[in-house]
Amino acid sequence: MSVLEDEAVVLAQELIRIPTVNTGDPATIGDGETRAIRFVQERLEEVGLRPAFGEAVPGRGNLVVRIPGSDRSRGALVAHAHVDVVPVLEEGWTHPPFEGGIHDGAIWGRGALDMKGYAAVLVAVARELAREGVVPRRDLILAFFSDEEAGGVHGAGWVRRHRPEWLAGATEAIGEVGGFSATIGDRRAYLVATGEKGSGAIRFTARGRAGHASDPSPDAAVPRLARAIAAVAGHRFPVVPTATTRVFAEHVSRLLGRTITAEDLPSVRAELGGAATVAELGLRHSAAATVVRAGLKANVIPGEATAEVDVRSLPGLDDEARDAVLALAGDGVEGEARGWIRSIESPVDSPLLDVLQAAIAAEDPDGVVVPYLLPARPTTRPSPGSGSRATASSHSAPLRTSTPTACSTRLTSAFRSSRSDSAPA
Ligand SMILES: [Zn+2]
Repeated sequence: MSVLEDEAVVLAQELIRIPTVNTGDPATIGDGETRAIRFVQERLEEVGLRPAFGEAVPGRGNLVVRIPGSDRSRGALVAHAHVDVVPVLEEGWTHPPFEGGIHDGAIWGRGALDMKGYAAVLVAVARELAREGVVPRRDLILAFFSDEEAGGVHGAGWVRRHRPEWLAGATEAIGEVGGFSATIGDRRAYLVATGEKGSGAIRFTARGRAGHASDPSPDAAVPRLARAIAAVAGHRFPVVPTATTRVFAEHVSRLLGRTITAEDLPSVRAELGGAATVAELGLRHSAAATVVRAGLKANVIPGEATAEVDVRSLPGLDDEARDAVLALAGDGVEGEARGWIRSIESPVDSPLLDVLQAAIAAEDPDGVVVPYLLPARPTTRPSPGSGSRATASSHSAPLRTSTPTACSTRLTSAFRSSRSDSAPA
């Protein structure tokens, strides 16, 4: 292995050994994130880079380093990772979660995949570029965030609001979710999320006559709410292909050797391997009642009942999704939209995708990069302003499922390609 690859492995192990568990609770969260961020800062400063550090609150650090390109007029590319991890239940681990050991050729530990392995690759690449004096064609901004696992408020959200200059001039960003390989037909597809569904919350409030449970009525709040919830659960949103799902279907057609339209995707589910679920979720809006509140006592009919409905909207159709769900409320039920993070869809013909394809092919000649629509929403979206299109956001931490070291080399190659003169990025 090269110095670059050796370093990526060791950095990943060292990051895993700094527990950065994000409990979401200030009382128990500690300062692991800042210690991990400071560790990254030191590794970057060692090679002469000058990262900027900032804490949303003590213990919750963020770090950004810009590697200036030769053509500052080209938009900057952001590559971002988060350093926090979700809590662990220590029993059930084959190897201790914060040991960061290598067993059977793989790095083990909490965050090895999500996403200290990727963070380590970014650090290793930055060190290599600095050592070799490489000047990329466009600015490269490497960002390391806290707090992805509990909302992103102290991480990407804080940087967006309080340090927007750190990301100035960025036109594209690449980070987690996606990148994992799925077998489609007999080829390995590396999924890159080039769009994200929006997410919104709607509250249904049903009202009716309160009284004693011995005198029930179908027009009481609870039955009214129950009908509205049943309407949401039974509603079938129409299939609406977006630019992303059309391109996804084109790739599937090539991989399966026959024409598959976006509308056909559900019928070829069995051939889509690990991509089957995301393929289907990308075709239509979704809505799910998640929190229901009513009543205090078994023998009293309450006058009010509420349900929270989570809605996921297709790119460009956030308002339509909202209106469709509000229309399901029914008699005696009021619907109220409470906040929406709008969908985004990045260009599916970005040269960055060609760079990723070249990088994947260098490591996995059979690998094909396939854009898809992400049905959920990670909290590291670094665009200035939620849902803003100012930064095209892709999600891909290339990963052939099984060996973290392979993951490292793949992203590394992406960066190598992005700086070569023949590469379009
Ligand atoms: Zn993650």
